[in-house]
Amino acid sequence: MEKRRIAILGSTGSIGRQALDVIRQHRDLFEVELLTANNSSGLLISQALEFNANAVVICNEDKYNEVAEALQPQYIKVFSGMQSVCDLVTGDNIDIVLTSMVGFSGLESTIAAVKAGKTIALANKETLVAAGHIVMALAKEFNAHILPVDSEHSAIFQCLMGSAGAPIEKIHLTASGGPFRTWTKEEISKATKAQALNHPNWSMGSKITIDSATMMNKGLEIIEARWLFDTEGDRINVVVHPESIIHSMIEYADGSVIAQMGHPDMREAIQFAFSFPFRLPLDNRKLNFSELGNLSFHAPDPEKFPALVLAYDALRKGGNMPCVMNAANEAAVAAFLQEKIGFYDITGIVEECLNGADFVADPDLDTIFGTNTRTLAMAADIIRNRSI
Ligand code: MG
Repeated sequence: MEKRRIAILGSTGSIGRQALDVIRQHRDLFEVELLTANNSSGLLISQALEFNANAVVICNEDKYNEVAEALQPQYIKVFSGMQSVCDLVTGDNIDIVLTSMVGFSGLESTIAAVKAGKTIALANKETLVAAGHIVMALAKEFNAHILPVDSEHSAIFQCLMGSAGAPIEKIHLTASGGPFRTWTKEEISKATKAQALNHPNWSMGSKITIDSATMMNKGLEIIEARWLFDTEGDRINVVVHPESIIHSMIEYADGSVIAQMGHPDMREAIQFAFSFPFRLPLDNRKLNFSELGNLSFHAPDPEKFPALVLAYDALRKGGNMPCVMNAANEAAVAAFLQEKIGFYDITGIVEECLNGADFVADPDLDTIFGTNTRTLAMAADIIRNRSI
């Protein structure tokens, strides 16, 4: 394998830090070219020094001086602002762009990287939820490969290898069920921020951890899978699998089901996106089937987790509705993390925004940005009314 040069957008977040851990184990195969962060200047500085990055971007301009003073003497280039991220990802010195920033804000830089024909290691699922039809069409036009980093989608991608292009009969998307899987609806309605942040299996950032508690994360992943694997929503089945050992499965027309397994560790999916089509060693925990014992499965409960119903609905309606759903959810999760609203207000706000938004059947990129902005404003109004 030839050495691959990597840009990590969002290097100080959970996925970014785990990606650097993968690179730490294969310094001869991967080189860090670009690191970007929103606010965490201290960590960005230490990462840039450890991996001798070519350049960094600190998006918060107030922190530019601090980062520049630390890194410029080491001949590491320092920039600030979102536009710099969009410019730098197109550089000839970059082969792979890991999109591990959170939320809709990752869309512009992802599109810039796609248009430059980079290989995208996609961890920013909101990008595909909001604008999947645009991003996938651009990827085709500019010959940019999009490799999934989301563990379920990496699993599906791996299950499809060697299928000789056989059509997908069904995708079985596994879900841990989150921290409230065994709670009653009454108990969930009183869930606090601390309880929602306490995920049983996966260690992740706060936005995705709340999304896992509402199961909106699985809703976003249904839409992500629709675009990554060019399949219809009614072929995507969600199954709750509390042990999180099977990361997802593909079913073919002959009823044969292929599963991909491992202990929950995001580094596996990150590394495979970096090394594809090759496989490299990793210092993770290996499966011991005699110790595993039983794996269990059950259907999700739409009464307790209405997010799944909302996501299937948004996907069926199509157009700008998934973008509305994503924007409303981002606003509502932020408000829940600030303890302004209750747990079921999150999906309540998403539902209200989906009902109130103007439908656009075939939105272009400007329409998507407009939809996002208008939905955030609509959600902010609803949040003010619901505030506790
Ligand atoms: Mg996932």
